[in-house]
Amino acid sequence: AAKRRGRNGVCVFEASMREILTERVRLETELREAVRAGVIRPHYQPLIHLDGGKIHGFEALARWTDKSGNAVSPAVFIEIAEEAGLITDLSGQLLRQACLDALSWPSETRLAFNISPAQLTDRLLGLRIIQILGETGFPPRRLEIEITETAVVRELATATQTIEELKRIGIHIVLDDFGTGYSSLSQLSNMSFDEIKIDRSFMNSLGEEDSKQTKIVRAIVGLSQGLGITTTAEGIEQLSQLERIKELGCNLGQGYLFGKAMPANHVAGFLAGRNAQEADVRLGR
Ligand code: C2E
Ligand code: MG
Ligand code: MG
Ligand code: MG
Repeated sequence: AAKRRGRNGVCVFEASMREILTERVRLETELREAVRAGVIRPHYQPLIHLDGGKIHGFEALARWTDKSGNAVSPAVFIEIAEEAGLITDLSGQLLRQACLDALSWPSETRLAFNISPAQLTDRLLGLRIIQILGETGFPPRRLEIEITETAVVRELATATQTIEELKRIGIHIVLDDFGTGYSSLSQLSNMSFDEIKIDRSFMNSLGEEDSKQTKIVRAIVGLSQGLGITTTAEGIEQLSQLERIKELGCNLGQGYLFGKAMPANHVAGFLAGRNAQEADVRLGR
């Protein structure tokens, strides 16, 4: 009986491995076609000034629906795009589209755009971004490039060079998902980031005054302020989290409480709605 179980175990294992591999191959094939067809599009999630509630800008988040109609998470397909050598093409398409979309927003509204870890090894990355800005006419000072902590640490030399290149023409550099990687707070001062985004994982236990998370966030915000770095809180879902993060002195906020990522043609309506709300508050309606 033990033998049969063992053998069955192996069979089950092989079957599920095969399934995983088949699924991975299918996704890669479909992704290749999707990139060729240019059907992966940026959606936009609002970034809000916590003091006053004005819109700071929008973060472009890639959205892809595969042939079976399933929305595939960018956390999944960006990694496949990196491994399949598709990331340069895909990212170029997304940035070009995002710049064109953002040109129709109010004139000071920022566009935040994610760069994946593998892209940071590309010595031509800076040039590619600058070229797209040139082609679309999108002003560099309205662009924020988001890079994750782990990627920067892993690719320190190339990343530093690219960051300097982009900063020289006025692009803002954002350290994304801060607090999940291994970069020390002292690295913050060396690398001249303009903004850090405190990872969503810190929002959970923010309600408790003495929680470790609250203390860490307070320290991050304090240090950033001292260094002149803007702080953004990701993943604000509840009013209590918003109140807490405001008290801690964070500058910007992002999360489902303000709005999820929306397609380009919903942004104008969203902005109009926010303006109407603000007018109501001003006029005491
Ligand atoms: P990220 O850059 O940290 O983006 C924030 C993620 O948190 C987004 O997930 C967003 O939808 C989600 N989020 C925002 N507010 C909330 C909230 O209140 N609650 C919860 N539970 N989630 C919230 P999304 O769109 O699935 O993207 C996941 C990751 O995929 C991004 O994390 C980013 O690293 C990557 N990604 C997305 N689009 C692109 C892209 O165009 N290029 C690259 N290189 N990476 C991208
Ligand atoms: Mg991001
Ligand atoms: Mg993030
Ligand atoms: Mg994140």
